[in-house]
Amino acid sequence: MNEPRADIATPKRTQEIVRRYGLTMKKSLGQNFLIDRNVLAKIVGATGLTEDRGALEIGPGIGALTEQLARAAGRVAAIEIDQRLLPVLQETLADYGNVKVIHGDVLKLPLGELFEREFAGCAEVSVVANLPYYVTTPIIMKLLEEKLPLANIVVMIQKEVAERMAASPGTKDYGSLSVAVQYYCEPELVAIVPHTVFIPQPQVDSAVIRLRLRKEPAVRVRNERLFFETVQAAFAQRRKTLGNNLLARFFGKGGREEMTRLLAELDIDPGRRGETLSLEEFARLADALDGRENAPES
Ligand code: SAM
Repeated sequence: MNEPRADIATPKRTQEIVRRYGLTMKKSLGQNFLIDRNVLAKIVGATGLTEDRGALEIGPGIGALTEQLARAAGRVAAIEIDQRLLPVLQETLADYGNVKVIHGDVLKLPLGELFEREFAGCAEVSVVANLPYYVTTPIIMKLLEEKLPLANIVVMIQKEVAERMAASPGTKDYGSLSVAVQYYCEPELVAIVPHTVFIPQPQVDSAVIRLRLRKEPAVRVRNERLFFETVQAAFAQRRKTLGNNLLARFFGKGGREEMTRLLAELDIDPGRRGETLSLEEFARLADALDGRENAPES
């Protein structure tokens, strides 16, 4: 009988694989491989994965997280952009019949189709990843905007970005990313992770965040596109007041009176800053802008 192989996520085994394949990590692809099984256990533990569930991994690297997911979930699909890693993954994941590695760029793949194909029999699906930091926000926004049938997203990301996703109104970290993420999800910081658990070590601190997908968005809006445009406008220039940002985006020079009247009806002070508005206030504001005669089309 074959001896069970050692986990990939140890410094020794990772270095051995990297040496044997002559791999050089590409900074441009955010390649920092995890070498700590305790951190992996925290990530996988936060997903609630069981044998009847599926996991989509983005960026399996050499398979450190993938093999832990294969043990916890019924089905794993892993999207990797770097062709050099495909033969490595073929070897490191050879013992796991429930894993499929897909070569491609997550930002370009049709994920809806992929879900239907790969997770047809699964009760629920989680996205789980140690994300490449250079594309964290576009990846998360793609997952949310495509309204994929997800239970949760558990990802390792740059600590500052995690703090922005989870920030409350009135704090310095609160911005358009906080509103967008909280519109779709309930975010929760799971762990702060030191840079020593990666090879090579990144320059920044990291955090594991769990985003639980809401059944319905946090607030009801008439026009979702206008809601996000309103949020973008409110944060366009953080040093400007809400009134001045809205004026620039929606009313134009002659529209100050109309803007002041509209905000007064909503009981929102135009002198406030965008970062003090709750999701509920943004929703009321967007609905009021939608009701204007010359409202932007949905
Ligand atoms: N999961 C591995 C681990 O934890 O050790 C590797 C994580 S590493 C931070 C990020 C991985 O994402 C790399 O393998 C990289 O090649 C891959 N990657 C980068 N950009 C990608 C993209 N647009 N689509 C899919 N994979 C990508």
